[in-house]
Amino acid sequence: MYSKTENKTAALYTLGCKVNQYETEALAQLFREQGYHIVDFSEKADVYVINTCTVTHLSDRKSRQMIRRAKKTNPEAKVAVMGCYAQMAPEDIKNIAGVNVITGVKNRRNIMQMLREIGEEPRVQVDELEEAYFEEMPLGEVRRTRAFIKIEDGCEHFCSYCLVPFARGPVRSRKLENIKEEVQRLISLGTREIVLTGVNLGAYGRDLEGDLNLTKVIRELDCLPGLGRFRLSSLEPTDFTMEMIEAIVDSEKLCSHLHIPLQSGEDEILKRMNRRYNTDEYRKLVNLLRYVLPNLAITTDVMVGFPGEKEENFERSFKFVEEMAFSRLHVFKYSPRSGTPAAKFKDQLSPQEKDERSRRLIRLGEKMAEEYAERFVGREVEVLFEEEVPGGYLEGFSEHYVRVRAQAVPEKKGDIAAVKVKEQNKEYLIGTPVTS
Ligand code: SF4
Repeated sequence: MYSKTENKTAALYTLGCKVNQYETEALAQLFREQGYHIVDFSEKADVYVINTCTVTHLSDRKSRQMIRRAKKTNPEAKVAVMGCYAQMAPEDIKNIAGVNVITGVKNRRNIMQMLREIGEEPRVQVDELEEAYFEEMPLGEVRRTRAFIKIEDGCEHFCSYCLVPFARGPVRSRKLENIKEEVQRLISLGTREIVLTGVNLGAYGRDLEGDLNLTKVIRELDCLPGLGRFRLSSLEPTDFTMEMIEAIVDSEKLCSHLHIPLQSGEDEILKRMNRRYNTDEYRKLVNLLRYVLPNLAITTDVMVGFPGEKEENFERSFKFVEEMAFSRLHVFKYSPRSGTPAAKFKDQLSPQEKDERSRRLIRLGEKMAEEYAERFVGREVEVLFEEEVPGGYLEGFSEHYVRVRAQAVPEKKGDIAAVKVKEQNKEYLIGTPVTS
């Protein structure tokens, strides 16, 4: 154990997904415990940590940019790089001047120790991922109205375009008692909403002894006193079981919102993506979920410009997305990742084609989001108010993940309150708090 570092500053930057955000936040807590003051990444700091992402080539590039930016802000600072890009390409990072520590998606707790032991050359500790255990990095004393907690790492799906299974390794799940303990600690610090995250959340428990799975976690969290509500970050269509759907319906605290990545609404492309379901199966799942939960918000990810996606494939995909009437759409453009099968596929599309398809789908997403939100005008929704916005309003998300504003009632900030929705603006609903 080493002594605390007084008056030192650390700045951390996250690229990529919610799992990375959670890990950065947990690491920031470790720095605080060692006496560091956490400052904004744009400020001069003694230590910079960049938690990288490798999901697209743009993520790689942005990761490199942020490393260089840190060194430019303070040439004297120590720089540590971690995360998926560091796991996949430590040699690329080693070539960037001024990097002191490189670690991948394991051993992040050792970063501080490694920073203390740096020499002329960067210290690199990027381990193989076969060894299957969940690295505990609890959030500790973070005070947050809505907190993401990571309960699973790794993915074994090997979609043909994705590097994540290589960067994150096999499924590793967190022990149920550790999840409950962290949730309870966050509740005691004022957290009202928990978002359970994982690289492949629906695979939770597959690596653990006994019959532990996500259904069990849902049922356990539902019974935790003091928890306002919770959400699931993302579930693959193939992860749903009847048992899980029953738990979702029974739950009183689980938000009526599911994120189910579609990626393409076209069977030929889904097959080439190695996505393990077809549009008919996806449609049946959505219909069943809407039958048991009529106002359920279903959000999704769609990729455009996958190799071989002809105009007719895209048109079919577009129609399917429209038919599914998602409440929110995240559109992203395919980018070849070296080492994945899809990078070698013929018929790669031009950037112009990807741009055009992306624009069309984004417009469709905006239209569907407005249509979905409209149904709540005149109705009461439960909103977790997270921030004050200009005009004397509080803003937050409803249980259906719709942005809502209401006249500020100071004591409601940081809490869940009922709001009567009066009108709809393009990006949010406007209402008045319901007084009990
Ligand atoms: S499910 Fe597919 S897209 Fe998602 S992380 Fe796993 S391999 Fe990547």
